[in-house]
Amino acid sequence: MKLRVLGCAGAEFPHFHPPGFLIDETVLLDAGTIGAVLSEDEQWAIRHILITHAHLDHIRGIPVLADNILIKNLNHHVNIAGTREVLAALKTHLLNDVIWPDFARLPTPEAPVIGYLELETDKTTDIGGYAVTACRVHHSVPAVGYIVRRAGKGILYSGDTGPTEDIWQHAADLSALIVEASFPNAMEETARLTGHLTPRLLGMELGKVAKLPPRVLVTHPKPQYYDTIRTELVALGIPRLELLRDGNVYEL
Ligand SMILES: [Zn+2]
Ligand SMILES: [Zn+2]
Repeated sequence: MKLRVLGCAGAEFPHFHPPGFLIDETVLLDAGTIGAVLSEDEQWAIRHILITHAHLDHIRGIPVLADNILIKNLNHHVNIAGTREVLAALKTHLLNDVIWPDFARLPTPEAPVIGYLELETDKTTDIGGYAVTACRVHHSVPAVGYIVRRAGKGILYSGDTGPTEDIWQHAADLSALIVEASFPNAMEETARLTGHLTPRLLGMELGKVAKLPPRVLVTHPKPQYYDTIRTELVALGIPRLELLRDGNVYEL
């Protein structure tokens, strides 16, 4: 599995883009960043987008990608996969013919640019040859993390979450965890209120995992506190734990 970090920040600044993780060029975990970093050909290669939750920093690449496809008049279809709540939010509040066109009906309702695939939590679905499982996490809106497996390799992506439980049961035999730490330790109260983690809270979460995989990749830091969060992560003393940067590529 090849993992390319399109964006991994908990806000937006130059060189810090919202979350988007591209697996093997074709499957995208969250859509916070697409057009800002991918060439036209790279955008066309995306076939499936797995959305963790409907917050803007995780969906904002979808309207742009859909428009790019339509403008090129390509006979091309992208699946947007997510839970019922997330897909409902996209249809009602984003691709609703008010904020942006309803690309699930364009260019024609019969052959639209976008299709929606509703996922049930804790069920494994084949998506483009990957075994995908959505698992509930604890955020300020309905949210899941994803476990994506193929050919003996696997990634667990937490999405945005505060302290949580169920998803760690899926953490065995993986190649990598992508887990969040949004705020520095001094802002733990804010993190808990908003459904996020600090390095200290992340350390407690990782203590729930029986055996950590070869890579623990930390995402979603607020760029304003990037250096503090990195220092606090190092202090956890967890081997092979790494704070991500946009543009990183991993062969898992
Ligand atoms: Zn969020
Ligand atoms: Zn977020």
